[in-house]
Amino acid sequence: MQYDYLVVGSGLFGAVFAQQAKARGKKVLVIDKRNNIAGNVYTEKIEGINVHVYGAHIFHTNLKHVWEYVTQFAEFNCFTNSPVANYKGELFSLPFNMYTFNKMWGVVTPEEAEAKIEEQKHEAGITEPLNLEEQAISLVGTDIYEKLIKGYTEKQWGRPCTELPAFIIKRLPVRLTFDNNYFNALYQGIPVGGYTKMVANMLEGIEVRLGVDYLENKEELDKLAEKVIYTGAIDAYFDYKLGNLEYRSVRFENEVLDKPNFQGNAAVNYTDPETPWTRIIEHKWFEFGKDEEGNDLPKTVISREYSSEWKVGDEPYYPVNDERNGKLYEGYKKLAEAESKVIFGGRLGEYKYYDMDAVIDSALKLVEKEL
Ligand code: UDP
Repeated sequence: MQYDYLVVGSGLFGAVFAQQAKARGKKVLVIDKRNNIAGNVYTEKIEGINVHVYGAHIFHTNLKHVWEYVTQFAEFNCFTNSPVANYKGELFSLPFNMYTFNKMWGVVTPEEAEAKIEEQKHEAGITEPLNLEEQAISLVGTDIYEKLIKGYTEKQWGRPCTELPAFIIKRLPVRLTFDNNYFNALYQGIPVGGYTKMVANMLEGIEVRLGVDYLENKEELDKLAEKVIYTGAIDAYFDYKLGNLEYRSVRFENEVLDKPNFQGNAAVNYTDPETPWTRIIEHKWFEFGKDEEGNDLPKTVISREYSSEWKVGDEPYYPVNDERNGKLYEGYKKLAEAESKVIFGGRLGEYKYYDMDAVIDSALKLVEKEL
């Protein structure tokens, strides 16, 4: 055995585990089937702009130890996520806050906003929300549900809101203050120079082999290490033998535009059901439209996101955590527990809608347990 650990996947979970294992004197090999490190946080420079190639990633956390951990590998800027919703050309502030309520209803005070929500909730007759639709209406009322949630969510998940679990919408804060800061987080920002650089710093001094598919060369690769940290999709590991877990995939249509400003914000969500994309990301605004020397950038790069049902061969992005998949995952989890040599981790390995900070926290916890 040449290595203590073979880490499959160089995304956040794998990179954190590898970094920590190496720091504790372990011999680690990281492999990735892609030709680049960093998994879905991978960023690539186009026209001087760090483009979030696999979707926008905005780092935010309330966990001090996670913040202290990541800031060892990158300096973070003070980007604050405040997306704008575009409903048929009408713009609303997100997340749902006094600016949104004022625009929607003309209400001025928090009491008026609260009364409006209560009135709509009462009319809908919801006492105990059982699904996403009911949860949304009981949080923000029918108007906001119809204009800002229903269309977006049904495009994003490809299912009616009545068939989606309530917890998805709980990610979205609702507040009766004038505050467009999407995340109620103590710490927030984008790593200066991009996520790829941050992950490269984590992996410094660790052997990384790119373009290596673990599942296709499993037998041979397993021989190299005492233990395997597997961060790929758990159902793929078992060759989908219990059936495949459902994921949502995203297709990105990237465009370089010969103008300095397309939409004036990093994220604009298209919340109507007709527009085929869910949102447009304008990457330069994650770094205030400047390059690392502080110069304004003359061009801009935008990505339209199209959500689709995942099928074998696509990139899985979001686990669909409904009842059927929950049960199926439990089955895979049992199989995973019986694999004594392999530990499963990360969004795909644990089939969990993890944010970046939660992934890092879970990798750090695993390190504590393992080492
Ligand atoms: N959502 C919505 N309207 C929006 C943005 C989000 O209804 O304009 C809902 C939608 O159901 C989505 C969930 O909130 O799946 C979580 O959104 P978030 O943007 O946090 O998800 P991300 O894709 O960034 O992980």
